Amino acid sequence: MGKLILVTVGSYNIELIPATTWGKSLAHLARQKGSGFRSIWDKIRERELGRADRKCEICKTSASSLICHEKWQFDDAQSVQRLIGYEVTCRECSNILHLGRASEDKVLWEKAKVHFAKVTRMEENVLDDVLDQAMKEWTQRSKHNWSIDISHEPLAFGFEKKLNNLQPSSQQERKWQGIS
Ligand SMILES: [Zn+2]
Repeated sequence: MGKLILVTVGSYNIELIPATTWGKSLAHLARQKGSGFRSIWDKIRERELGRADRKCEICKTSASSLICHEKWQFDDAQSVQRLIGYEVTCRECSNILHLGRASEDKVLWEKAKVHFAKVTRMEENVLDDVLDQAMKEWTQRSKHNWSIDISHEPLAFGFEKKLNNLQPSSQQERKWQGIS
């Protein structure tokens, strides 16, 4: 097992997905036409929402639009990005977990900081420091390629190759990767 680097602040475990694996997620695979994964992902999501009692697992609000996050662990020695489970969150907590993207939008970033302060009872500006630290890790991890290990999810059996072959598609994703 390689060194596990994790930026944890309050109840937030922040893991920025390396640019080289952006879009290689189960949720993204489900959105690909003809992937055959849509109904499987719906099952996974429904299972996880049930497990979380349909509440955000971080701030505990029962929002109508909950997000099922894939939780990843990064084995830096082996360059393996491994699925280790899921976290159900509200949209606001999701923006904090995806703070790289949120920080690109001024309004979104201010909102994220307010929510962060409310949930963690820390100063809003702590999130700026978290962003700096997370971006340093992200830059390091984005320098090389990773293989994605989804063996944690039995329902995804047989989809590992498809997932590893996914390419990021949207403009926004390409921008975030710096490859547009
Ligand atoms: Zn929340």
